[in-house]
Amino acid sequence: MSLHDEVKVRCKKCGGETTAECWTSLDSNIDTDGRDRLLNGTLFTVACNKCGNEMNLCYPILYNDMKHRAMVWLVTKKEEIEKTALYFKESKVKIGKENQKISEDYRQRIVTDQNHLREKAIIFDNGLDDRIIELAKFAFAGMALGKCPGDKIADIFFAKNGDGFRFEIYTQKGNAMTGEFSKKMYDDFLSLYMKSGRSLSVNNEYIIDQAWAADIFKDFGIK
Ligand SMILES: [Zn+2]
Repeated sequence: MSLHDEVKVRCKKCGGETTAECWTSLDSNIDTDGRDRLLNGTLFTVACNKCGNEMNLCYPILYNDMKHRAMVWLVTKKEEIEKTALYFKESKVKIGKENQKISEDYRQRIVTDQNHLREKAIIFDNGLDDRIIELAKFAFAGMALGKCPGDKIADIFFAKNGDGFRFEIYTQKGNAMTGEFSKKMYDDFLSLYMKSGRSLSVNNEYIIDQAWAADIFKDFGIK
C-alpha cells in the first residue's frame, strides 16, 4: 500500500508557497511512478511553482519492494533507528494504520540518508543484494584510495551504467572516479560472502553499510 500526503512548502528564494507530495510509504509494485522517481533521484525534489527554485524535502519514508522481498526505512532522526529496528525485529511493520506481518526471508534495512535509500532501491530493483554490493564497494573504495594517496573517501555509490553497473566514488579532496562493476564481479563477491560462513537467507541485520562491510573484511584479516 502506498501512502502520501500533501504538504505546503515555502520557497526560500521567493517566499512563494508550493504544494508538494510527501510519502509515508511507497510500494514499488503499486506506485511505479513514485518508484521511478526514487530510482532517478527526483522523489524528494519539488520545484517552486512561482520561481522554479528546486527544493529538497526531508521526511521519513518506508520503501517496500515486494517483488524482490526487501524494504528500506529511511529515518530522519538518529534516535528513530532503535525504534525502527524493534519494529523489524518483531517482524511487524506499520504500514499506514495497520501492522502487517512479514516473513523472515524479507530483507529489512534502515538508512538515514536519501541517497542511500535510492541506492538500496536500485540494488533491490535489479535483483541484487545490498550486502554483496557493500562488500564490493569496500574493495572499490580501497582501490580508489590507492590512486589518491593521502585522500579519504567522502562517498561511494552503486549506480546503473547503461545495461550494466558502476561505482561512483567521491573523495574528500574532490576527486571523482567511476569503476565498472560486472555481474562476474558480483558473483565473486557473493562467493567471498559465502566463505565467511554467512547466508543471504538470514536477515537479522538492519544496517548494511561500509562499517558493516569493514567488519566482514576484518574477519578475513583484510583492513
Ligand atoms: Zn520560489
